[in-house]
Amino acid sequence: MNRISKKLAAYFIISFLVLETVLMMYLHQNIVHTRVDEEYSRLLTSGSNHRNILKDHYSDETISHIVLMEAEGDSGVVIIGKEGEVIRSSDEKLEKLMPSFSFLQNSTTQNDRIVMPDWEDTPYIVSAHPYKVDEDRSGYVLMFQSSEPIERLVEKLNFHFSLAGGAIIVVLFVIYTILSKFLTRPLIRMKEATEKLSEGKFNVSLPAGGNDELGELAVAIRKLASDLERMKKERNEFLASISHELGTPLTYLIGYLKVAMRPELTDEEKNRYLLIIAEESNRMKDLVKNLMDLAKMDEMTFTVSTINFSAQQFIEDIYRLVIPSFDLKNIKLNLICKEDFQIVADPLRLEQIVLNLLDNALKYSNENTTVRLEISKEKHRTVISVKDEGIGIPAEQIDMIYEKLFRVEKSRSRTFGGSGLGLAIVKELVEAHGGTIEVKSESGKGSLFTLRI
Ligand code: ADP
Repeated sequence: MNRISKKLAAYFIISFLVLETVLMMYLHQNIVHTRVDEEYSRLLTSGSNHRNILKDHYSDETISHIVLMEAEGDSGVVIIGKEGEVIRSSDEKLEKLMPSFSFLQNSTTQNDRIVMPDWEDTPYIVSAHPYKVDEDRSGYVLMFQSSEPIERLVEKLNFHFSLAGGAIIVVLFVIYTILSKFLTRPLIRMKEATEKLSEGKFNVSLPAGGNDELGELAVAIRKLASDLERMKKERNEFLASISHELGTPLTYLIGYLKVAMRPELTDEEKNRYLLIIAEESNRMKDLVKNLMDLAKMDEMTFTVSTINFSAQQFIEDIYRLVIPSFDLKNIKLNLICKEDFQIVADPLRLEQIVLNLLDNALKYSNENTTVRLEISKEKHRTVISVKDEGIGIPAEQIDMIYEKLFRVEKSRSRTFGGSGLGLAIVKELVEAHGGTIEVKSESGKGSLFTLRI
């Protein structure tokens, strides 16, 4: 449950600790180096002062004076002669270290310098100051500074830095607790909400988040929940409609079959019933075929292969195909194509679209009316319109006509023979072409469907 917060805290704490350690090490080293440099420069200054006095006033008295000055505290001095022999020292202990400085006898460097800088591994840091009074009286003033004060400083620093480190870890822990509360709690609530969704419970309650990514995620989950709920409701309604659509013709079929099987019927009566059975079976076949088409469109498994073809030719072919049905119902079909041009579309799908619209115009128009089929070019688009003078669609239902299995009046279907899938298919096909479809209709006056692809 808390894994994300642990991860976040781990990343946060590790990065902060790394940064803190680097900064502290840098600060620590800086303080120590500054302190050591101070010691070096103090040692070099007092050594060079002693050497200058010795050079100018070389005498036993001067030597005693120098040794006396350095006898106290953590420092010390050893004055050595030409051959490296000890002339005088402030502490006998220091004389024992003299073999380590034998290299000075062969040294040609005449500058003051630190000859033992390593305060960590040796008990003293040492500076050497060469002097020369005359040919016989020359040598070095060696200044000693105990490493102990520096070590004590380092120990103190270590203690204070560990204290600061500990305090920072405590502060980090407090920040982590606050962060996990403000950052991970909404995440955990969203996870719980999505789990509820996957169990089919759509009434998720997520508090309104801020304007950040978490707030946007909460909004997206709430939208997902309401979409899923709507889709579930639609699916149930759709299944109920399908069962009804298939159930009704099946009941008719069974009824007519039972009647047709009666032995006392004449051949003529039997044929009449068989014809009805055939008609009903065809209706069911069409319904199932349309449903299959829609399922394919929903799954995006159908393809639209666009080519260029003549508008004039296309519309004339359709006209030839449908005119017998219009003549049969005594409805005039006017064809308008002012100039020929090239349509870019899938000809079979476009034919399916136009046939569906003409089929509706025919179904929902009365005798002695006119249907107008017009095709024209608008910039790079093809505009096809089908206008009828039929029964029209009530304004309050016009938005629903593209829904699957929607019919203005259920009773219309038996009279006109529709399944409520035609316009749903038309819309999917038009959209698959990247086009649009719009309708204008008035009850009792007629409808105008216009598509642009
Ligand atoms: P159907 O197979 O029932 O015609 P459609 O999806 O093609 O199904 O149309 C949905 C509903 O829209 C129809 O049942 C009908 O009520 C209404 N409709 C469609 N076209 C027209 C039209 N040209 N005139 C009047 N009503 C129409």
